[in-house]
Amino acid sequence: MADIIDGKAIAAEIRQDIAADTQALIAQGITPGLAVVLVGEDPASRVYVSMKEKACAAAGIYSVEHKLAAETSEADLLKLITNLNDDTDIDGILVQLPLPEHIDESKVLEAIDPTKDVDGFHPYNVGRLMTGNPLFQPCTPYGVMKMLEHHGVDLNGKEVVVVGRSNIVGKPVALMCLAENATVTICHSRTVDLPQKVAAADVVIAAVGRPEMIKGDWIKKGAIVIDVGVNRVGEKKLVGDVDFKAASENAAAITPVPGGVGPMTITMLLYNTIVSAKRRAAQ
Ligand code: NDP
Repeated sequence: MADIIDGKAIAAEIRQDIAADTQALIAQGITPGLAVVLVGEDPASRVYVSMKEKACAAAGIYSVEHKLAAETSEADLLKLITNLNDDTDIDGILVQLPLPEHIDESKVLEAIDPTKDVDGFHPYNVGRLMTGNPLFQPCTPYGVMKMLEHHGVDLNGKEVVVVGRSNIVGKPVALMCLAENATVTICHSRTVDLPQKVAAADVVIAAVGRPEMIKGDWIKKGAIVIDVGVNRVGEKKLVGDVDFKAASENAAAITPVPGGVGPMTITMLLYNTIVSAKRRAAQ
C-alpha cells in the first residue's frame, strides 16, 4: 500500500515557520500585509477569502479584505489596485477569481504590481517562471513542489506526467518540474492514449477536474501520485481526479483528497506574502 503524503501535516509545518518568520519581521518593524479583493457574491469565492483571512490571522499576518459589489466597474477595481500597489503596508495583493463577466480578468491581473503579485499570475511573473528565474510562484503548483520535496522525491531525470494544462496548475507545475530536471509530458483533453502516457510516469500530477478519471491500473508500480483535483460528488463527498483506492495499490506514495494538495494552496499564499515582506525588509 502506498504512503500517504499528508498535505495537512506538511502545511501545518510550513505555517509554523511562516508564523516564526512573521514574528521576526514584526520585531524589525515590518508587519507582513496581504490585501484580498473579492468582487461579487460567488459563494465558493467567499469561503476561500474567509479561509485566507483566518490563515493570515493565525500566522500573525496583517490582512485587509476589500469586498466589492458585483456591479463594481472595471475602472473602480483598477483604481483600488493602483491604491494597493502604492500602499507601503501591503506586501501581497490577491484578486479572487473568477471576476464578474463585465470585468476583463487579464487587464486586472496585469494591473497588479508584479512585486506584490503573490498569486504569481501576472504575465511578468509567468515569464520569470518560464525563464527559470521566478519572483513569485503560483500557489497550488508551488504547494505540489513543496509536498514532493517534503516527501524526499528527487525529480532529477524522472518521467513526470502532468494531466491538465491550465495556466493556474498544469502549465506552471510542468515548468517547475522541468526546473528540477524532470522529463515532463503535459497531457490534456486531446491527448491520445492517456492511460499509456500515465503508465510511463514516475510521478503523476493530476489537475483535470474530473472525478476519479485516472484509474488505479494506469499507475506504474512505485510511482508517486499527486492529485490536485477537487470534485464534489453528491451532496458532501469530495474526490480527486485519481481513483485513490485502486491507485494506492500501485503507487509508492499518493496524496489524498481532501487533505492533500488543498491545504497547501493557502499556505503557499502566506509563504509568498512573507517572501515579499522579507524583500521589503531588505530594501
Ligand atoms: P481547468 O478546467 O482550467 O483545466 C483542466 C485541464 O484538464 C485542461 O487542460 C483540460 O484539457 C484537461 N482535461 C479535461 N478533460 C480531460 C480528459 N478527459 N483527459 C485529459 N485531460 C483533460 O482546471 P484547473 O487546472 O483550474 O483545475 C484542475 C483541478 O484542480 C480541478 O478539480 C480544480 O478544482 C482543482 N484545483 C485545486 C486546487 C487546490 O487548491 N487543491 C487549486 C486549483 C485547482 P484542455 O486544455 O484540452 O481543455
